[in-house]
Amino acid sequence: MFSLKNKTALVTGGASGIGLAISQAFAQAGATVHILEINAELAQQVADDINATGGQAEAHPIDVSDQAQVVALIGQIAAQSPIHILVNNAGVAHVGKADTTEEADFDRIFRINIKGVYNCLYATIPHFKANGGGVILNMASVAASVGIPDRFAYSMSKGAVLTMTLSVAKDYLKENIRCNCISPARVHTPFVDGFLAKSYPGQEAEMFEKLSKTQPIGRMAEPKEVGALALYLCSDEAGFTTGCDYPLDGGFIRLNN
Ligand code: NAD
Repeated sequence: MFSLKNKTALVTGGASGIGLAISQAFAQAGATVHILEINAELAQQVADDINATGGQAEAHPIDVSDQAQVVALIGQIAAQSPIHILVNNAGVAHVGKADTTEEADFDRIFRINIKGVYNCLYATIPHFKANGGGVILNMASVAASVGIPDRFAYSMSKGAVLTMTLSVAKDYLKENIRCNCISPARVHTPFVDGFLAKSYPGQEAEMFEKLSKTQPIGRMAEPKEVGALALYLCSDEAGFTTGCDYPLDGGFIRLNN
């Protein structure tokens, strides 16, 4: 329904879960997708699959928390063709409260979930400005606005993603750069499967059901449901929207009481 024909998009963490669904949706809509991903093998496999089915994708092994790597890579991509869309999706989770989160874990969440987003903004916005505009979509979480129990560092990091979204939307309003974020509640991805396997070994299926029931709508979202919203928000049809947080939460924020 929404076209990204002749658009070039960067998708961080674009080889798994929500990022994979976004890479696939964008490629199906006609974009050339650059997958910026720490898992090199998976990224190549996803790019190969997209290319084999008539889409256009390129895999780029990268750690978004390393500014020098990010600036060099985005500079190389921009030298080949103008970049139109940046999706800051890469993120990692951590379980813990303020007094049970070790410094190394806090720093890791900060480096990937916050600094990783900043690095990609820092590297991409100059190209958007030079090209007359662009679209940014950040992956926040319902944790940003309501906090999730036992997810202290993660909630903090997603709060920062939400406020970076607002800051960027304001700072570049006059430069034709739109910036929004999506706040999903639980989405059934390897992120969730990994958490269940680690936290509840042998009880994954039971806990999956239990977690699904914590969503007012009674199930988790599917990654492609996030991909569809991302496609809309990054398309020209969404040209009137900037500085907004789009909950995709099965009622989690407003109907959970
Ligand atoms: P996922 O683990 O399936 O995918 C994350 C991807 O990011 C992976 O491919 C991983 O290799 C990549 N990545 C991790 N660190 C990286 C780094 N330093 N540099 C580059 N790539 C890196 O997770 P997902 O569930 O698809 O989550 C995607 C985003 O959505 C995250 O930001 C997450 O916080 C957010 N989110 C997820 C849920 C959920 O329930 N799954 C809910 C709300 C928000």
